[in-house]
Amino acid sequence: MDNERLCSLCGEPLSRYGNKKIKDGALCRNCIKPASPWLSDSDYEKMSVEDFRKHLEYRNENLKKLDVFKTDKKVEGKYTLYLDEADKKFLVSKRKDYKKDNADVFDFDEIKEISIYEEKYGETDDVDICFDIKLENKQIDNVFFRVNEFPGLIRDSKEHKESIDLALSYLAAFEEEEDLHFEQVEGEE
Ligand SMILES: [Zn+2]
Repeated sequence: MDNERLCSLCGEPLSRYGNKKIKDGALCRNCIKPASPWLSDSDYEKMSVEDFRKHLEYRNENLKKLDVFKTDKKVEGKYTLYLDEADKKFLVSKRKDYKKDNADVFDFDEIKEISIYEEKYGETDDVDICFDIKLENKQIDNVFFRVNEFPGLIRDSKEHKESIDLALSYLAAFEEEEDLHFEQVEGEE
């Protein structure tokens, strides 16, 4: 039996698509379902099965944090930013029902750096507007997402300007918080 064809966590055969390579094997798409959406492929590649088990425990703990999370402020977009100002916590969720999403809850003071930049879309002259929050967190290094709903914006188009405005609104929501200090980077990459 070829072990590389089996999920390192549940032992079920891997499907053709949707698996993730990890340091000491691979995970099937069922096992990665409860994982954080902020894990990148390279994050997975650095993880062992044991690390992933710890990650799932962390995700379970996160559900409890969501129970006490109270939204004081939000900035809506393809991704919506929610701030709990009283408890100094935030989350970013693609879904309206962030509880169902088990959106990761972070502390304000875990934020190290926030960057907004344009990224070239493929071989075209079009761009995507990216928002990146670098974190000091044991499980998640980056909350990184594309601000525009559909990839590839024509520079100076209405959608391009709207996406930049939205990115700046996310940033402003953080900047308005009194005790929140972070590095800010704006530019192109
Ligand atoms: Zn599995």
